[in-house]
Amino acid sequence: MFPIEFTRSLQEILPASEAEELCAALEAPSPVSVRYNPYKITDEAPGRAVPWCRYGRYLKERPSFTLDPAFHSGAYYVQEASSMFIGHLYEQAMARIGRNRDAGLRILDLCAAPGGKTTLLATLAGLENIVVANEVIRARAMTLADNVRKWGLGNVVVTNNDPAHFAGLQEYFDVIAVDAPCSGEGMFRKDLQAREQWSPENVRLCAQRQRRILSDIWGSLKPGGILLYSTCTFNRTEDEENIAWLVDQYDCEPIEVELDPAWGIVRSEEAGICTFRFYPHRVEGEGFFAAVLHKADGKVRLRTPKPRRTILVPLPRPAATVVGRWFGQPEHMCFAQAGDNIYGYYGESYPMVKVLSESLSVVYSGVLAGQLFGGKLRPEHPLALFHDLASDSAPSVRLGLEEARQYLRKQEIDVSLLQEGINLVRYGELPLGWIKRIGHRANNMYPKELRIATL
Ligand code: SAM
Repeated sequence: MFPIEFTRSLQEILPASEAEELCAALEAPSPVSVRYNPYKITDEAPGRAVPWCRYGRYLKERPSFTLDPAFHSGAYYVQEASSMFIGHLYEQAMARIGRNRDAGLRILDLCAAPGGKTTLLATLAGLENIVVANEVIRARAMTLADNVRKWGLGNVVVTNNDPAHFAGLQEYFDVIAVDAPCSGEGMFRKDLQAREQWSPENVRLCAQRQRRILSDIWGSLKPGGILLYSTCTFNRTEDEENIAWLVDQYDCEPIEVELDPAWGIVRSEEAGICTFRFYPHRVEGEGFFAAVLHKADGKVRLRTPKPRRTILVPLPRPAATVVGRWFGQPEHMCFAQAGDNIYGYYGESYPMVKVLSESLSVVYSGVLAGQLFGGKLRPEHPLALFHDLASDSAPSVRLGLEEARQYLRKQEIDVSLLQEGINLVRYGELPLGWIKRIGHRANNMYPKELRIATL
């Protein structure tokens, strides 16, 4: 059962018969979809294609993702299909403004946990650009960082800040995605709590919060930059009315987006800006709303925030050579140290990462490689999951399904399979983590906080 005021509010957006169809769809099971990682899976991925996302696939049923080692290797991300549309908007908008081939782009995903849009944007942006994935709630920022490490591209900086903290980064980002916290009407069939917590008052509070978030962040978008706004709710208060408010408050311009009518997405315009609605009775996905706009071009004042403190220190050449051996293309990387931890960054992005880590509360960035002991690198887990780990960095041990699950549970592995020292554990070709053999013993280095529960 849905709250009565919610069913009534649907009359504002749909004819009565269609509102009934929508309610019926919201009682039906959700489709299952995943988005695969093209940096880790080069073969054609199984499943039926999600029309608006070339890496999206619908699955016939929901498998146990937890028991699938490929899931833990970052080969795919479980993401509902409608929200993958942000990738289409990003690509279309960048092509429209002629910046789809640019390098050095700064993309901010402001409300990023658990990381669906972040991993999508990081994939589409490419390695020569950087995605700042921010999440205001600390525990959720930690989950976001886990998912970023698992995805393993090395072009993401995870931060844990309130939107207001970005005030020091004026006109800094080329793209800002605001996937706003909302009343969640579009998730009613997946998330029963969203149904229980829904009220007209909560819709109003959500809309106010969304406006606060948008006004906090608007100054950080470069003139000429792109704003992607989305919610997973149907009401106009949090969707179109916020877009109209934005146009009223700030200098916004429309961006044209091409759409195949067969996809079933409802496209409209609000205050001249393209908007997109996903209704579960029309598309195979959850309820979703998205809009894309352009900050009117003006003079970009290149302002770099004042550094507060220096955290990252470039690694001296001899040490960088040792660490570089673990990377497929060290010539494209820059290595820096924060305390004992050594991180790898794509060369072009290092100066940006340095500025960001001096202005924001950074939880994770680049690729955590490990620490140096006696001139040797002790590798950390994120390095194993980095997509461009050097193939000869350590001997590999390939495990079958059951043994791979044992490894992920941090259980023992047959020591005779291992060579002395550090070994890379793979499931098929997909790296899962490290294990160290010391004589007749093996030290399973899989992080204990990530281990899967024993059934
Ligand atoms: N983009 C995410 C994804 O694709 O996986 C989902 C984001 S979810 C819709 C909205 C996020 O906004 C939540 O993680 C929530 O913690 C965060 N949030 C809550 N209050 C916020 C606020 N006042 N400012 C910014 N973010 C907030």
